[in-house]
Amino acid sequence: MSKKELIGLSKQELGSEIENIGEKPFRAKQLWQWIYFRGETDFAKMSNLSKDLRAKLAENFTITRPKIVTEQLSKDKTHKWLLEFTDGQRIETVYIPEEDRGAVCISTQVGCAVGCKFCHTGSQKITRNLTAGEIVAQFMVVRDAYGEWPSPTNETRMISNIVVMGMGEPLHNQENVFKALKILSDGDGIAISKRRITLSTSGIAPLIPSVATDLGVKLAISLHAPNNEKRSQIMPINKRYPIEEILTACQKYQDVMGMSRMITFEYLMLKDFNDSLDDAYELIALMKKYHLGAKFNLIPFNPWPGCDFQPSSNNKVHAFSRELEAAGYEAPIRVARGQDILAACGQLKSAKI
Ligand code: SF4
Repeated sequence: MSKKELIGLSKQELGSEIENIGEKPFRAKQLWQWIYFRGETDFAKMSNLSKDLRAKLAENFTITRPKIVTEQLSKDKTHKWLLEFTDGQRIETVYIPEEDRGAVCISTQVGCAVGCKFCHTGSQKITRNLTAGEIVAQFMVVRDAYGEWPSPTNETRMISNIVVMGMGEPLHNQENVFKALKILSDGDGIAISKRRITLSTSGIAPLIPSVATDLGVKLAISLHAPNNEKRSQIMPINKRYPIEEILTACQKYQDVMGMSRMITFEYLMLKDFNDSLDDAYELIALMKKYHLGAKFNLIPFNPWPGCDFQPSSNNKVHAFSRELEAAGYEAPIRVARGQDILAACGQLKSAKI
């Protein structure tokens, strides 16, 4: 009989597994802490469990990490892993360090069905959803690499944030993604605050309110264009969920979370496509119409082999940012990270082209 993997089980499921091997449910809490607070993968080292129990656990269960196929470190210290799961499927995970903190960019699917024209991942067909365990394990691989176990306090941790912006559309794998984020934010384990987790979606409008009602994490929308005509050209999903539906869903998110929980609109600056001042004015009018607590993240485009777009000039990006800021919106220009190792936004890919 094959052993059951424990990473990715909810607390309740872990409790049931423990009961199934004839143990008291409170043991599940101790086990949870070993797995997610201490990062332990070896049952034999779980010193506050009896020898018998440790043996029984090792007989029935495993706690494993995905295989690290390759690992690359960028000049700017951005760190990228190509990870392989037990069925041979591969994804990429990235750690982006800042001076005193850092974010792990997590993937949710092998490939992606959304097919955004500017995205390297989108040129790789969807193979399958990741399980909750495979999503959680990506974060644990990063913690292993930096030795950040047991879970440090919020103030001292370097791996402090999670952005669900890697390969895949998270709301196309909603159940597993939500389950994984609940495990990652659980206070008895990894304990990343929900305020430090951002889920980024291409705009699966009917599911956007659930990011507030079922999860309570921050929301980012990949907008990238000020109107439906342009957006549909680069994001085919816009034909299914046009901008109006997405922004109405964003209003519902903020009805639950409050206006102060700003929604980030990601805007990739594509040369001569969406980077004119007229585009900026149209974007501002759109935001005013929906009265959203919004901020923008202007992203310099990172070209990848075979893509059709070019990055906007620096001058244009700055002019665009100034217009948005003059209208009262924060609009920082994101500094491209990890470009030399294809780890920047929209560049992730796990299969050969
Ligand atoms: S940008 Fe996101 S949603 Fe669009 S194809 Fe890439 S991974 Fe999928």
